[in-house]
Amino acid sequence: MLPKLIIVIPCYNEQEVLPITSKMFLNKINSLVSAGKISDESRIMFVNDGSKDDTWNIICSLAKSDKHFIGISQSRNRGHQNAVLAGLMEAKDNCDITISIDCDGQDDIDAMDKMVDSYMNGYEVVYGVRSKRDTDTFFKRFTAEGFYKLLQKMGAEIVFNHADYRLISNRVIREFANFKEVNIFLRGMVPLVGFKSTTVEYERNERIAGESHYPLKKMLYLAFDGITSLSVKPIKMIMNFGIIVAIISFIGIIWAVVDALMGNTSTGWASTVCIVCFIGGVQLISIGVIGEYIGKIYMEVKKRPRYIISERTYDDDMEK
Ligand code: UDP
Ligand code: MG
Repeated sequence: MLPKLIIVIPCYNEQEVLPITSKMFLNKINSLVSAGKISDESRIMFVNDGSKDDTWNIICSLAKSDKHFIGISQSRNRGHQNAVLAGLMEAKDNCDITISIDCDGQDDIDAMDKMVDSYMNGYEVVYGVRSKRDTDTFFKRFTAEGFYKLLQKMGAEIVFNHADYRLISNRVIREFANFKEVNIFLRGMVPLVGFKSTTVEYERNERIAGESHYPLKKMLYLAFDGITSLSVKPIKMIMNFGIIVAIISFIGIIWAVVDALMGNTSTGWASTVCIVCFIGGVQLISIGVIGEYIGKIYMEVKKRPRYIISERTYDDDMEK
């Protein structure tokens, strides 16, 4: 039997791009169906992430126009990661494979063919990896590649240059559903599930229309969030740093005592004040980092729902 595919597409204020890219997604599904790679029961699922513009209305009219389009809406804006998660959980048990992709046409949808082929060859997870970043500005490329390197150095296992364009089999999603954490960083979590995986290279284009929702500030938050939800390396680094500072201070104390015994009383409070300030600063940063982890624990123990679906374009059993 041919596998049933659900393409999961998060959308936040995308009224400009949706009319354009929805056609591209539909063509892709139709061509995969006619190539005999996937079943005609496959669907394109838009996840409206609490958009403030016309996005949800567009999704509803798309759903009326073609059976392949379906949509769900989050009760409010929760961010890209939660939107993708909502889509994946909704698709769970309703399909054989999912592919998550952004709705702005930046990720080359033709890579889906290779993803489905890899699935047919026995891979349960297929990561879309950007081959080059020519179309990004130097600044975006520099910050984005720095992001991956920083995350890897900090102990978060992620696939280099892989964003959230990936194929996941239903089997993996079922296991993934047992990861109950509320701080989610899909790129770092999917590799933790394991199973046989591979990568597919694709070229990333420019946004077809509209603007990026990931300026530098949001990207830094995402990086910090990723690191603190996946690894405790920052805490270990603080401890190592503390040990080094303690050793240096100890040498300094010996030197001061020897110096005093030899009768060279050192004057000047500036050096003392500098050191006190420095240590004060380091301590504040350290408390901040630890505080970040405590904040995460706080969010986790509350066990609040990770997404709330307020509307669907179909009945609960996904049949329209
Ligand atoms: N997105 C979302 N919720 C948000 C922000 C973004 O669902 O709060 C979606 C957005 O509609 C798009 C994807 O996430 O499909 C990636 O966003 P964007 O293209 O703005 O990021 P970039 O590609 O610039 O990193
Ligand atoms: Mg984009």
